[in-house]
Amino acid sequence: MKLALYEFDLPLRHVFTISRGSISVQKSLIVELEEDGQRGYGEATVNEYYGATVENMVQALESVRAELDQHTLNDPAELWDALHAALGDNPFAHCALDQAAHDLWGKKQGQPVYRLWGLNPDDRPPTDYTIGIDEIDVMVAKMQEFPNWPVYKIKLGTPHDLEIVRQLREHTDATFRVDANCGWSAEETIRNSRDLKPLGVEFIEQPLPADRWEDMKAVFAESELPVIADESCIVQADVARCYGFFHGINIKLVKCGGLTPARRMIDQARSLDMKVMVGCMTESTVSISAIAQLLPLLDYVDMDGALLLAEDIATGVTIERGVCHYSDENGSGVRLEAKGKQIG
Ligand code: MG
Repeated sequence: MKLALYEFDLPLRHVFTISRGSISVQKSLIVELEEDGQRGYGEATVNEYYGATVENMVQALESVRAELDQHTLNDPAELWDALHAALGDNPFAHCALDQAAHDLWGKKQGQPVYRLWGLNPDDRPPTDYTIGIDEIDVMVAKMQEFPNWPVYKIKLGTPHDLEIVRQLREHTDATFRVDANCGWSAEETIRNSRDLKPLGVEFIEQPLPADRWEDMKAVFAESELPVIADESCIVQADVARCYGFFHGINIKLVKCGGLTPARRMIDQARSLDMKVMVGCMTESTVSISAIAQLLPLLDYVDMDGALLLAEDIATGVTIERGVCHYSDENGSGVRLEAKGKQIG
């Protein structure tokens, strides 16, 4: 396989704000793997919270270029395991490579990835559309830009969180889920769960900072709403740690290192009778198409990342009012449409 690396700047439709800060342009690294004229694509975005930069991702991937040159792709999971020693410290880089390997694997075999996994594409939950923190009337306007979705995910962690949800509720009957991105205390979470439940909120994502396990225990016992781990559940070993502290986990491909570990985390969560969600970053259709392959395995999904961009760089899956439509292409269905800056 031949490895190529491209850097893209993805301008966002709106400045995107969560409890930790704001961005207006998202830097992203695209990995291309080529074998016999077929090309597979994967993506990882830069992320300050998780320490992922273009430079450290490129460095990690360059360290395995020679190995990839010699490799003929038969099984992406086998490749993931073989490269784990070299890439384990940089799950974002490993994720982009693993996504590209899956896309190429499906294209080589003339099948979509979900079919090669034996999944039924009819069993796919709808995705939410995410509303970043802003003035309340702007949040209402953002929701109305994407009307008639079945589910909206509302970013919270402000001094007036309940007011935000109340105001949004005036304009839709859709299901809400909320994500405090570590912005609440245990007390606040328990109190908010009581007030949010009658407002049609189905769960709370990551209310407390990632390492507040004792406080989470109290929340788990007393919350009126299920709580889903995001920042507290990064890699496979975290799934068992979250048992008894959270009702479910939000897997992100960049956090854990790609589709291969994501599937293992899903299996483990199921064995513990926990709910499973997959989330995304603000990222292009390259990554979103990879996430889509997992849909039949999930309870909840948040794969609206490409819709938050002012312009996309690829074609693949499309999303219409929360419903994901698969591409006619094989693999993950990705076709790169824009020219990035080649950096490796
Ligand atoms: Mg989250």
